[in-house]
Amino acid sequence: MDIFEKLKILSAAAKYDAACTSSGVNRKAPKGEGIGKAESCGICHSFTADGRCISLLKVLMSNSCVYNCAYCTNRITNDTPRATFTPKELAELTINFYKRNYIEGLFLSSGVVGSPNNTTELMIASLRILREEYKFYGYIHAKAIPGTDKELLNELGLLCDRMSVNIELPSAASLTSLAPDKSKESILVPMQFIKDKLSESRQLAVYKKAPSFAPAGQSTQMIVGASPETDYSIIKLSEGLYNKYQLKRVFYSAYVPIVESSSLPSLDTKPPLLRENRLYQADWLMRVYGFKSGEILDEKNPMLNPYLDPKCNWAVNNPQVFPIDVNKADYEVLLRVPGIGIMSARKIVSARRLGKLSFVDLKKLGVVLKRAQYFILCSGKSFEGLRINQSQILNSLLSRAALERFQSHYKSGVQSSMFETPKEEVIKSLTGQL
Ligand code: SF4
Repeated sequence: MDIFEKLKILSAAAKYDAACTSSGVNRKAPKGEGIGKAESCGICHSFTADGRCISLLKVLMSNSCVYNCAYCTNRITNDTPRATFTPKELAELTINFYKRNYIEGLFLSSGVVGSPNNTTELMIASLRILREEYKFYGYIHAKAIPGTDKELLNELGLLCDRMSVNIELPSAASLTSLAPDKSKESILVPMQFIKDKLSESRQLAVYKKAPSFAPAGQSTQMIVGASPETDYSIIKLSEGLYNKYQLKRVFYSAYVPIVESSSLPSLDTKPPLLRENRLYQADWLMRVYGFKSGEILDEKNPMLNPYLDPKCNWAVNNPQVFPIDVNKADYEVLLRVPGIGIMSARKIVSARRLGKLSFVDLKKLGVVLKRAQYFILCSGKSFEGLRINQSQILNSLLSRAALERFQSHYKSGVQSSMFETPKEEVIKSLTGQL
């Protein structure tokens, strides 16, 4: 089989992995040596319409796999064309694509070729050729295969910028039923190892020549919609992973049915793209805005609201917190106001040192007053002519434009009846009047 035939098979097989953004790494070639660089934000990302990243050469080392994960097209029992790159082939392909400006870096994953150790050795051999023979200093994200020995994981981590071990499914029970060859332990042990190596590497960073282990940190991905877990259990799990393993990112991947199985949603089920989007928004609230999972959802309300983003939803359901006075509120409190983001909260804190801020000033600072007006005061006064009750706020936040936008972007990902509900009924249902 020629290399382009292999590329066709192995890039198609890799497209369901969403965990392939880059960030926060500054690797560049010493003067006059080598090619490529992976500076912070130096990698261009582009996303396809369904939100998947396409900027890196995203490919599998092999799609031959001895495991049998029910949701995966590469599972051993699936009748699909198989291919495996040799380390040399993969390195040459990457370097040629890089030189032609097709890609900025490499995202390398693999099916389990014989055993996790064997697979990782193939990946290490490819990256060695790229780094040592071709002097490639560009960005590389490599998957750690659960079950790989620590020595090999260490070698892999020293060659790449980011590592990830996919958590795959949001609970141990789903993992047992859909990915019987994997276990919670086989995923969490390498995650812990990578975390330990990352802190060791940070401590050694004071020594100029100390080798750097996966300087862009580690991430993971979980599939959403293949198993019955609620959004609450998913964000609780993510919160635990961020706290315990210091992950840079958890990626959520809407399940795309490609396999007929009684334990999975049927083939005509649409990928839950709106749900995936809401999970990313909730994740952002936890990582950047300081929310706890229990503030966003709870056992009684375990699913994210399809009509309102999680921050608006939290604000509407916590009227006792508002209104807050922008001239007095702490930065952390400002961040909780819909329509105030990190940049505008910082500007408010800095500008109010010079004098009291008015609504006109807030607009100039980038606050989205259309949303924020319901939740803020300026020196004790509310926005002119504002009428406040929960359904009026909802009526404004659920603008027709927003509903139409959801409709055009996400209709494929949710039940269409959601969008056929008149707005008044949506408000009634959100305010508990139905
Ligand atoms: S280990 Fe599971 S998810 Fe990964 S390639 Fe093999 S069958 Fe697919």
